[in-house]
Amino acid sequence: MSAIILEGVSKRFGDHLATDNIDLVIPDGQFTVFVGPSGCGKTTLLRLIAGLEDIDAGRLLIDGVDMAHTPPAARRLAMVFQSYALYPHMTVRANLGFALKVGRSPKSEIAARVETVAKMLSLDNLLDRKPAALSGGQRQRVAIGRALVRQPRAFLFDEPLSNLDAALRGQMRFEIRRLQQDLGITAVYVTHDQAEAMTMADQIVVFRDGRIEQVGTPLDIYRRPANIFVAGFIGSPQMNFLTGAYASPYGAATIGIRPEHLKIATDGILRSEVRTVEHLGNEALVHAELPDGTILTARCSEDVSTHTGEAISFSVDPARVHRFDQGERAPIH
Ligand code: ATP
Repeated sequence: MSAIILEGVSKRFGDHLATDNIDLVIPDGQFTVFVGPSGCGKTTLLRLIAGLEDIDAGRLLIDGVDMAHTPPAARRLAMVFQSYALYPHMTVRANLGFALKVGRSPKSEIAARVETVAKMLSLDNLLDRKPAALSGGQRQRVAIGRALVRQPRAFLFDEPLSNLDAALRGQMRFEIRRLQQDLGITAVYVTHDQAEAMTMADQIVVFRDGRIEQVGTPLDIYRRPANIFVAGFIGSPQMNFLTGAYASPYGAATIGIRPEHLKIATDGILRSEVRTVEHLGNEALVHAELPDGTILTARCSEDVSTHTGEAISFSVDPARVHRFDQGERAPIH
């Protein structure tokens, strides 16, 4: 598989800079997730890598080779979309071999490659079935298998799970990730779902307005968000942000505290009043209002005993407080 390198890559649609001077290394054999709100340019960047859009400025290198004059098909990248786009009238075997047949590979070679890929993906018992007789997860595996027989250098996933219900999505995240790890595939995966990014990625790239806000491992980004945007985008429920008197003891314009780092304490410094308590079965979320009107969300154990209107105070380990100045992460001193 292959490393993909972007150097100063920009793409403009009319007046709008969809991607703005992007520098990025997508390492060989790793799972890189592009995440960010709608319209931030993540799909555009994926399409630039695939060659489905032309780059206006900058360079794209795959395996060290500039792709400027390489058409999409010759890049040997596999795109996997939301809809699996399997041929419903064909068996799994025919679906898997289709691209090779169109490419006029010899029959014996098609049969051998289909066999190998089917084994890798545990589809060997399903080769004579048609897509209608497969589960969602099996269909997704056939879609990946169909790309795999062409021996791509990398996989590009464009929100492949957004049509699925929550349970199947969770299962498919796990399956795609396991496959990627077993096969050592280089993967780029676009999603607007931060939980998907956190659970699947080796490397997360957070985008906003056509620019990269931060690149790092999921834990890096969670523990040391580069700025308020990343801090608020990654993590659910969202990080709490406090300003004014609460922030000034820390010498910051804004401080951030994750919901799991607020501890209920009789003499806690954050005195507030409970607004609502959400019981989720394995935990409870307590929403409380500070005197300045800021709403805090605290992740508590399910057996928390408090109710709307009650006074509640929280303490926080100072080492868990994030400081931000002018929106950017600042050191704790
Ligand atoms: P989403 O999660 O909604 O798919 P995204 O982060 O993938 O969002 P892009 O699809 O890359 O965002 O779009 C980035 C910006 O470029 C958007 O403002 C979009 O409207 C614009 N854009 C994308 N494709 C085109 C196009 N072909 N012509 C004009 N504008 C475009």
